[in-house]
Amino acid sequence: MSRFWSPVVHTLSPYVPGEQPKQDGVVKLNTNENPYPPSPRVLTAIASAAERLRLYPDPHATRLREAIAAYSGVAPEQVFVGNGSDEVLAHTFQALLKHDKPLLFPDVTYSFYPVYCRLYGIAHEEVPLDAAMRIETAGYRRPSSAILLCNPNAPTGIALSREAIAALLAENPDRLVVVDEAYVDFGAESAVPLVARHDNLLVIQTFSKSRSLAGLRVGFAIGQRPLIEALERVKDSFNSYPVDCLAIAGAVAAIEDDAWFLETRARIIASRDVLARDLGQLGFEVLPSLANFVFARHRSRSGADLATALRQRGVLVRHFKKPRIEDFLRITVGTEAECSRLIDVLRGLI
Ligand code: PMP
Repeated sequence: MSRFWSPVVHTLSPYVPGEQPKQDGVVKLNTNENPYPPSPRVLTAIASAAERLRLYPDPHATRLREAIAAYSGVAPEQVFVGNGSDEVLAHTFQALLKHDKPLLFPDVTYSFYPVYCRLYGIAHEEVPLDAAMRIETAGYRRPSSAILLCNPNAPTGIALSREAIAALLAENPDRLVVVDEAYVDFGAESAVPLVARHDNLLVIQTFSKSRSLAGLRVGFAIGQRPLIEALERVKDSFNSYPVDCLAIAGAVAAIEDDAWFLETRARIIASRDVLARDLGQLGFEVLPSLANFVFARHRSRSGADLATALRQRGVLVRHFKKPRIEDFLRITVGTEAECSRLIDVLRGLI
């Protein structure tokens, strides 16, 4: 602490990301990374972009926005890119979510949202999940300026249908609805096709999960032009280069390699289903996940104890010390071998 700190810094308790172990040989199922490498085309593209690092990047990231637009079926002007979806979210909070009335989001969701609210001085209210840990859209009818949903939700993995999002948008034409789709590619329905009909929808996605590029830091938002313009105003006042040259080249190559994307995604979905079944057989209740992780609690063993015991045996999973979810473990879907290792270790523990 120091007398030079601004008042807001005193009240901040920053988001604590999952551990990145220094040693090799750890089975790392704690931060929802993709267990497979990025497309080989990404590596080639980054190597050739590295030859031009002397130059500043394109301040409009035009090639990347065009590639995302072509993939998503929207115009490049409807795409905003940033350094990971965390940065896109940060700009969204500043540009679009700060109003007189509170922002609404679920009480169990991505724990970065309350951090941004404190950082930017945004009032918020948390809407409880229902008894089955699902988002109940009827709970969002209370007075507010905007609604922020994570779909599939993190850390539960449970997804809302596109139809449910469409109904929420139609019910709330005067409120912005932001949908964080960091995990949408693993089986859930994206809200992107609704953007054309709804000027109150902003969808945020990332290259970190389904494209295996967490280390490159590329995320993006899709919405109608006025929403994108607001994000650009904030971005230009902050750092007029949205992403660097290597990120542009790598992300373009990733989104253009559909075969790689489809194959790695199919493997992750297949492993998720096996993992859920195996955990069930060990006495876990596993929430129905459409993400690249599962959220599960054991009938008789505490989540904290299991996470510690797994850690001592070289398997990292995520445990949150938060009311309502402290019995649960969030387990990233790894390779087949990593999932088997987790199940073997758990079998020894339970
Ligand atoms: N949204 C959610 C729900 C997440 O879990 C994460 C990853 N921690 C992010 C956004 C941010 O991901 P990234 O910045 O790597 O795009």
